Amino acid sequence: MVLAELGGRITHAIHQMRNVTVIDEKAMNECLNEITRALLQSDVSFSLVKEMQTNIKKIVNLQHLAAGHNKRRIIEQAIFGELCKMLDPGKPAFAPKKAKPSIVMFVGLQGAGKTTTCTKYAYYHQKKGYKPGLVCADTYRAGAFDQLKQNATKAKIPFYGSYTESDPVKIAVEGVDRFKKEKCDLIIVDTSGRHKQEASLFEEMRQVAEATKPDLVIFVMDSSIGQAAFDQAQAFKQSVAVGAVIITKMDGHAKGGGALSAVAATKSPVIFIGTGEHMNQFEVFDVKPFVRRLLGMGDLSGLVDKLQDVVPKDQQAEYLEKISKGNFSMRMMYDQYQSCLNSGPLNQFYSMLPGMSAQMMPEGESESKIKRYMTVMDSMTNEELDSSNLKAFNESRIIRIARGSGRIVRDVMEVLEQYKRMTKLFSNVKGLKMLKNGDMSSN
Ligand code: GDP
Repeated sequence: MVLAELGGRITHAIHQMRNVTVIDEKAMNECLNEITRALLQSDVSFSLVKEMQTNIKKIVNLQHLAAGHNKRRIIEQAIFGELCKMLDPGKPAFAPKKAKPSIVMFVGLQGAGKTTTCTKYAYYHQKKGYKPGLVCADTYRAGAFDQLKQNATKAKIPFYGSYTESDPVKIAVEGVDRFKKEKCDLIIVDTSGRHKQEASLFEEMRQVAEATKPDLVIFVMDSSIGQAAFDQAQAFKQSVAVGAVIITKMDGHAKGGGALSAVAATKSPVIFIGTGEHMNQFEVFDVKPFVRRLLGMGDLSGLVDKLQDVVPKDQQAEYLEKISKGNFSMRMMYDQYQSCLNSGPLNQFYSMLPGMSAQMMPEGESESKIKRYMTVMDSMTNEELDSSNLKAFNESRIIRIARGSGRIVRDVMEVLEQYKRMTKLFSNVKGLKMLKNGDMSSN
């Protein structure tokens, strides 16, 4: 089950609970059971899911809640809090400092994406002004050095390795020394992986760590490994002091729940996720916005960022207020399409809105379709664009808009249908309030 699907199922369970008139033990259990099933099917480990369920029941003690308490909200908040807790071990990962050289060692099974991720990590920091250096201490896999060399060359990052030396510890130490002399402030050591966890891999890792004394050990995990995630992550943690996790291949059809398990097993935060093979397909991982989006609760800080692309700063508050009051106009739909053409897929925008998840995005919203809608809207009058009353679009107006835009009547009808759908979606956001800290709250 991909993460969007997991989010969809959790959101659905919460929505189902919204529809019952009285929230009692039974309604809450049904909701929690559905969430439990969804998490288990996404490969979150059984013990974690069990713990989460127990904790939520403890937090939401229905019998002791006085009448008047918004039980639904309390349950939703508890689910949100527990999911965040699963992903947040409570302490941040070591962050490299520019003042002194930081050594970061990458570990993981072969094929997890270690070598690719080393370069992505170096490239990301290089863009932030660091001076990285890449050391290939993977002497086990033939071609590992060539791969690192190729990636590093592409990104113009200095690298160190050897075709002849077979001792990874020696290479690691030499590489680290070299880059220290060259005044690199971020020295990244790629280590060997094996097909499965085996004693020799762990011993080699321990020796490289002992010799190079890394400030941070990053465990790289393929998101598709499923229920094995917990044991695998724990095995690595027991051998070396893993301080952070990077989950790769989140772009595929992998079950994403392994991320939750890896955090629990290593007690270390996920710091980045890999979303493709290319250098810049690499995203900083933030727990709260991630869980908010997963649950369809929206991410107002992200939404505000996106709004900045399309709405002038002084009008943003008014814009949000309009959405929150359900006054969604044709012009606002136009603005969003514009934003989406400028800044990326529409589902990102949708997923930032409370009550919606990326999954709920209308299907087939391709770029050409959006452009066609916009052409139609270009032929509307200001009055039509600012109205939120579809009845104003009578037959003669529809024919006029079709003629004006050089499209057929069916195209105009499609835009109106689309507007109706979006208005319905946005009605979920009614009552949304932005708090001072940028968080959101909804009634
Ligand atoms: P290593 O053996 O752990 O060093 O793994 P590699 O870095 O060689 O990666 C194994 C394969 O996974 C390569 O084909 C990579 O291009 C691919 N890969 C790595 N990260 C990602 C990712 O985030 N998304 C996708 N789709 N492929 C990835």
